[in-house]
Amino acid sequence: MPSDGSIKFICSWKESAPLANSDIAGLNRWRDRLYALGLAGVYENGVGFGNISQRVGKSHEFIITGSATGGIEKLDERYYTRVTDYDFDHNSLSCIGPIKASSESLSHAIIYELDPSITGINHIHNKKFWEKSIGRLPTTREDVPYGTPEMAWEIERLFKESDVRKRKILAMGGHEEGIISFGKDLDETGRVLLRHMGIKD
Ligand SMILES: [Zn+2]
Repeated sequence: MPSDGSIKFICSWKESAPLANSDIAGLNRWRDRLYALGLAGVYENGVGFGNISQRVGKSHEFIITGSATGGIEKLDERYYTRVTDYDFDHNSLSCIGPIKASSESLSHAIIYELDPSITGINHIHNKKFWEKSIGRLPTTREDVPYGTPEMAWEIERLFKESDVRKRKILAMGGHEEGIISFGKDLDETGRVLLRHMGIKD
């Protein structure tokens, strides 16, 4: 266990050929947009941020941008992976694809679990918007960091106790700059975010 007492994220990765271009085309369109707006990218210390995912059909599986892809300007099939299974209590997941899934994937997974009508999720970083959103949007607890099982339970709590289902956007109180939006498809997911940020669609 890491010294902070949190359970280490475990990704069981089965390496495979890249996904079909048709499987990632919709994701990539929005990812380009988010990157152009600086909502996905890389910090000066080299750490990337921002991920986007889409449910596979009506299943519990989803396709998500791979680990450490935030700073890459143009993504293609090589940078997406399919999450096939997950276990919140053990902070672990299984994925199959050309790249490992992000350690933030479980925050996506819990949302897909909580509402079968949700098929798209964005996780972006933006300091100004995040600061403005804390407490105004449904907000996860400040003492819960990203990449922990507790973050999944915090998101679940918001689904039970707040109107996040209707608003389709939340702020991550314990994950600086972190915002999540979701929707019935990727267009709604993206538009909800842009509308809240006052960015023209
Ligand atoms: Zn993040």
